[in-house]
Amino acid sequence: MYAECALKNTVLMVNDKRLTNANLLNETQQMIPQSLIEKLQSTQHLVILTGAGVSAESGIATFRDALTGLWRNYDAQSLASEFGFLADPALVWGWYEWRRIRVLRAQPNPAHHTIAQLEKQVTKLTLITQNVDDLHERAGSCEVLHLHGSLHQPRCLLCEQPYIFPKETLPENDKENRIKPPRCHLCDGPVRPGVVWFGEQLPDHAWQLAQEACRHCDLMLVVGTSGVVWPVAQLPYLTDKKRCSIVQINPLKTSLNAVAAFNLHGKAGEILPQLYAAAFSKD
Ligand SMILES: [Zn+2]
Repeated sequence: MYAECALKNTVLMVNDKRLTNANLLNETQQMIPQSLIEKLQSTQHLVILTGAGVSAESGIATFRDALTGLWRNYDAQSLASEFGFLADPALVWGWYEWRRIRVLRAQPNPAHHTIAQLEKQVTKLTLITQNVDDLHERAGSCEVLHLHGSLHQPRCLLCEQPYIFPKETLPENDKENRIKPPRCHLCDGPVRPGVVWFGEQLPDHAWQLAQEACRHCDLMLVVGTSGVVWPVAQLPYLTDKKRCSIVQINPLKTSLNAVAAFNLHGKAGEILPQLYAAAFSKD
């Protein structure tokens, strides 16, 4: 099953080749090319793909960076797989609650806010994210395609009934790493996190919409993603080379440097507002 899905590129996989600090470039004020400004002003369909770098600027640890402290003795596979959940549901639920609480304490940053503003400026915007937090929504983005699921949308393991978190309970989960998952109110099955685990397919509807948008857009911003997590990393390569310009915004050089028409190296929370101001500021 895994191999079959992998061939179809619909399984979440991580390429372990990590980018190192050697790839870090100097953070300098970017010169926004005039041709990019004009493309943004005239785009008919803008796609924005965001990754962990955008959340990191709000203080959200990346998946692997979160494997510290309480979680240092656990590996990613046992915390982020159905196998791991079945083996120790309380450990896995505790890990996701720990992460969800950190997200709830975090705030959207200027990158999230600028993306929400762009939605009001361009004819059509499709926002695709690999992030499992809700910071885009809290910044005001209306429709977000969460390709790796969401920490905030758990469901029953057995019948898939969505589970709604009670608002009043926000456990202080700093010291305890095991929390028993709640039970489904329909079938009494265990509630599982709403994220995509290793070996699972991406949410079909969101994935179809994301691919469709990439095939038809005329401008694509790839923001804060290292391009090593497949199948999402293939999205920029689905764009129409004759019509669509790819813009990479990332402090690091990635494999996308060779493909993107524009590479703006720096923080998303600094470059996106600059780009927005250059294209849409009335001054
Ligand atoms: Zn159920």
